[in-house]
Amino acid sequence: MDAGTDIRLMYFPGFAINSLEEKEVKKKNEAFKLNVFNMDYTGELPVKCPNCGEKLIGHGKRPVLIVDTPLKAEPARLNMNMPRRRCLKCNYLWTPEVQEIDNNHLITKRAFADITQKAIKQPFIDVAKEYGISVNTVKNTFIDFLNEKKSTLRFTTPAFLGIDEIKIPKLGEVTVITDLEHRTLYDMIEGRNQELLRKYFDELPNPENVLWVCSDMYRPFEKPIHIDLPRARWVVDHYHVVAYANKAMDSVRIHVQNQLSKEKRIKTKKGLAYTLRTRLKRLSTEEQLLIRECRKNPVTNPIAVAFDLKEEFFDIYDEHKNSKADAQEAFAEWEKKIPEDKSFDGFQKLVGTVHNFYEQIFNLWECPIYITNGFTECTNRLIRENSVKGRGTSFDILRGRTLYRKANLEKIEANGMMYIGPHIPQKGSIFHYEETKDIRDDYTEDESLFFNSYDYDPFIGLRPGIDYDPETGEILQEFEDKEEVEW
Ligand SMILES: [Zn+2]
Repeated sequence: MDAGTDIRLMYFPGFAINSLEEKEVKKKNEAFKLNVFNMDYTGELPVKCPNCGEKLIGHGKRPVLIVDTPLKAEPARLNMNMPRRRCLKCNYLWTPEVQEIDNNHLITKRAFADITQKAIKQPFIDVAKEYGISVNTVKNTFIDFLNEKKSTLRFTTPAFLGIDEIKIPKLGEVTVITDLEHRTLYDMIEGRNQELLRKYFDELPNPENVLWVCSDMYRPFEKPIHIDLPRARWVVDHYHVVAYANKAMDSVRIHVQNQLSKEKRIKTKKGLAYTLRTRLKRLSTEEQLLIRECRKNPVTNPIAVAFDLKEEFFDIYDEHKNSKADAQEAFAEWEKKIPEDKSFDGFQKLVGTVHNFYEQIFNLWECPIYITNGFTECTNRLIRENSVKGRGTSFDILRGRTLYRKANLEKIEANGMMYIGPHIPQKGSIFHYEETKDIRDDYTEDESLFFNSYDYDPFIGLRPGIDYDPETGEILQEFEDKEEVEW
């Protein structure tokens, strides 16, 4: 018996190996050698029935063939001869319980762990060959593994953590946690509130890993970040901040448009809302002229003023990338320019918001990497697609499909951010793994090293779920000027 065999025995106390057989297995397209360890039970046999105390009597033996880890790179099986004892009074049947065997799969737990680890990275067929099992068995094993994964598969806690949210029909709010440095999805939490996040961070392994957190301006995040992530600094995602400038501008636009008769309302090809949200440099000559015209007329002038304020607000970011002090000064100058008029209240609210989150907003300038949840928008699109595809699915299914999709796992793996945790069998909610190859996973990489509001999607933060074509900017679902601007 070689060392490998001794180790094998250590896993199965109460069993002895009485022989090692080498069998030739021939299947349709392949032939391989199978190492079969014939094992006998040498442990104790119970005398009394645990149910009724009656004497147990021998009930023969049942051989069970168990898949184990390969022996010298060749498939191996344990042929375990299981004694059985029966109670004649209550029909209780005793057979040895072997801790190291996963009875649902007739596989040793270490083989299960090895197969599933390999199945993350290798084609199922390679794993199947190594173990002398079918591709389907590998696949099913992997599915079961995914079911357990919630408690076992760990991703290294990221240094740059993104928190975003998405609303899913029927499921409600979902908190999306991302690794912003490696642009991977880290996790998803059902719901969004302080309590949930505190619980989540509390259970996060190595919370000290997190150095920066990027999120929107949601004050309840403050406690979880500061208390549970001891080294983290909070940055408010600048996309969310500039989105407020757009909203403030929308209020002015709506206010002015409502003063005009239907015929006199200002119209542009893409809609005035879209035109105004476009950055100045990207406007057509026609659109620029239109804003100039607005400026001349006292009634429409606020639209031009609001447009300027929006542009200048974006420029606080774009024109002062290298100096936090300059950016802060630019903001101080900017807030002085807001007209007193009530229709500009949205901008005053923005001023209040910036002062409320002053530290977090200007932390951006100190963060060593370009930190933004912009990438999360792509993830959110994927989550939405998954949600639409599996209509009425549970949160866990949605999470599994998104988090464990190949591209995400591969990226996490490639960045060395994945490890398989200890085997902790856990009962509870499960999710199913499905092939997701038809789901688009090709979000574009943003190579810019610093934030750039020109890449800003003018409709982020407008209204959750507004339907528009990101290619053309065409609004598929008209939004009315009369509509209330949400804050
Ligand atoms: Zn009994």
